[in-house]
Amino acid sequence: MRIVLLGAPGSGKGTQSQRLVEQHGIPQVSTGDLLRAAVAKGTPLGLAAKEAMTAGRLVDDQIVLGMIRERLTDSDTAGGFILDGFPRNLAQAGALDALLRQIGQPLDAVVQMNVDYGELSRRIAGRRTCSDCGKVLNLLTAPRQLAESELCPKTGQPHRLFQRPDDNEATVAERLRVYEAQTRPLIDYYRAQGLLHTIEAEGDVEAVSERLEAALRGL
Ligand code: AMP
Repeated sequence: MRIVLLGAPGSGKGTQSQRLVEQHGIPQVSTGDLLRAAVAKGTPLGLAAKEAMTAGRLVDDQIVLGMIRERLTDSDTAGGFILDGFPRNLAQAGALDALLRQIGQPLDAVVQMNVDYGELSRRIAGRRTCSDCGKVLNLLTAPRQLAESELCPKTGQPHRLFQRPDDNEATVAERLRVYEAQTRPLIDYYRAQGLLHTIEAEGDVEAVSERLEAALRGL
């Protein structure tokens, strides 16, 4: 199964990708995670990406496409993948089509995750990540006590939660603006290819997973 999860920041792409990884045993390919890892390591690529990420803008297409080309030729993606946060504009979508044609692995589906704007901001404000295992928790749905009592699989200690630096109010506003201007046009792009499925992604995580699985059934 080769799919793209499309949606605004905070629409639950990361959370639902992690669930699909568990259900289907195919890897999640998140350009945001790959970029954050490069920034943390201080690689030249990370240094080049950091300024745009901090400001909530898109990182240069060539950097992101280079990372994707490398990742999609790793052996673990041969049996399928979930693209999370990529493509983010029409140029990236065109380049992805060309790459997948080249390796003979076309997309099976693109799922657009619909969430109301007010809800997106609320979710992002509550989002926390464990600095040891990378698990993403939300204080809205998992109250702090519960989140902190769960043990981290890496350390065996409670998760050490931090807020992503680009989850602050000003950067979130810019990320949502960038989504509207550059990413939303992908909905029509994939609809025209007959690949688009749209699901309501508000409410309970479990219910959203069920809608997602229903959209993917039969692929
Ligand atoms: P995310 O974790 O998907 O919200 O991404 C965090 C940040 O990484 C974004 O605000 C962008 O600055 C950058 N980023 C992630 N994916 C892409 C992409 N496909 N193209 C350009 N920039 C990206």
